[in-house]
Amino acid sequence: MRFISLIIPLILLPFHLIAQSASFHRTDKLMGCRFDLTVVAEGADAGAGFLAEAVAEITRIERLISSWNPNSQTSAINRAAGVAPVVVDAELFDLIERSISLSKLTDGAFDISYASLDRVWQFDGSMTAKPSPESIAASVAKVGWQKIVLDREQSTVYLPETGMKIGFGAIGKGYAADRARTLLESRGVPAGIINASGDLTAWGKQPSGEDWRVAITNPLNKEKAFAWLPVDGRAVVTSGNYEKFVRFDGVRYAHIIDPRTGYPSTGIVSATVFAPRAELADALATSVFVMGTETALDFINQLPGVDVVIVDEANKVHSSAGLDVQTSN
Ligand code: ADP
Ligand code: MG
Repeated sequence: MRFISLIIPLILLPFHLIAQSASFHRTDKLMGCRFDLTVVAEGADAGAGFLAEAVAEITRIERLISSWNPNSQTSAINRAAGVAPVVVDAELFDLIERSISLSKLTDGAFDISYASLDRVWQFDGSMTAKPSPESIAASVAKVGWQKIVLDREQSTVYLPETGMKIGFGAIGKGYAADRARTLLESRGVPAGIINASGDLTAWGKQPSGEDWRVAITNPLNKEKAFAWLPVDGRAVVTSGNYEKFVRFDGVRYAHIIDPRTGYPSTGIVSATVFAPRAELADALATSVFVMGTETALDFINQLPGVDVVIVDEANKVHSSAGLDVQTSN
């Protein structure tokens, strides 16, 4: 089987390394994915209380930013595309403004207006022919972060074309993880991990005094981590879905689509980004896919405090200059 030979990064929580009974866990389905929360606290009651606060915070953010929930402010912005600006909370306004900054930083590889893309590519095995160049070009006609109109004084967001849409699929989980961590730190929680299905932020140390570490492994052989990396207060986000791709004329097209061209990304199977905040790591992991290995390594090497590990379609592991990845495979 083809997949056996793939080296696939995956975050393993080092639960088993926690020596004291002073860490507490909770798993919830939030923002459409699995969140695993860990806090270090003095006693089960305190731990459960902190975990409940974190879950409430993530739920609050989901209500505000989800484009699936028709009652969210994001949905209101999308409904009003081509019609009128929409007044939003400062928190959402700021998130959109930061998303646009990330579009500038990544030269458009990251783009929240990606959400209007016509799904001319399918990655579930149902496609029999490559879409025509015309349909691919047409699929991104409404996409374009440059078109989003922000008015800070009025706190409004306007999508000027009918059919334009925004969505936080590539940044929302990271943002929520950061906010949950900030909340817990402000409550005095000395250490913990927020893991949103591979979008992870960790702070403090394990009760044993050791750093939290993440393993980059082959999920089909999890015993054999090919690299262990300390998280040291940073966030780690892995982007990659090994099943979702389609092949035409020998080219492997992965499920993340370049919002500038409408063509799927090629060459990368998985990207793990280390950054000071999960929001940045999340957005960059998606951007790395779009950029391709060489451009992405160049780009990440210019960002202080940010690193990347890329597994390409030939199973080759590439890492940015700031990481010392010893591969054992
Ligand atoms: P995953 O969690 O599936 O590994 P990502 O974190 O990269 O993937 O996020 C994928 C989601 O982000 C997509 O489902 C889509 O909603 C959105 N997205 C995809 N490509 C882009 C892009 N270039 N810019 C912004 N958002 C994107
Ligand atoms: Mg992402």
